[in-house]
Amino acid sequence: MPAPYHGRCNCGAVTLSIEAEPVWVRQCWCRQCQRIAGGSATSNALVMTDKLATRGEIHWWEYEAQSGNVIGQGFCPNCGTHLLGRNSARSIACVVRLGVLDEAAELAPTSIIWTDEAPAWALLDPALERFARQPPAPGTAT
Ligand SMILES: [Zn+2]
Ligand SMILES: [Zn+2]
Repeated sequence: MPAPYHGRCNCGAVTLSIEAEPVWVRQCWCRQCQRIAGGSATSNALVMTDKLATRGEIHWWEYEAQSGNVIGQGFCPNCGTHLLGRNSARSIACVVRLGVLDEAAELAPTSIIWTDEAPAWALLDPALERFARQPPAPGTAT
């Protein structure tokens, strides 16, 4: 399904829309993602920030990754749904959590990152490209 894509948090206080096709869609098994995803990977669509429109208040929690980059996880302060992720090394783009999109079923991941931190029971699609940790630049840091 072509853009635009639309999404919202569980309570509806935050809505968003994406005007262009994502740069990529990938799963991330890093520990920070497992915590917000309830134990599994996050699935994320990278979009250029100027193609993303959001409405409603988004709170950000930030941490410094091993790379030294500052990672932000954006969520609805009312219902806690995680919507966005950002990286200080990549300010012109951000990731949208696939689960918030109405059209999530149309956007399949093509790669998996941070497989080093996935639990032994994780089911990793063998058809997808894998990276043990963070893929190399350019523009790929999560
Ligand atoms: Zn909400
Ligand atoms: Zn992650």
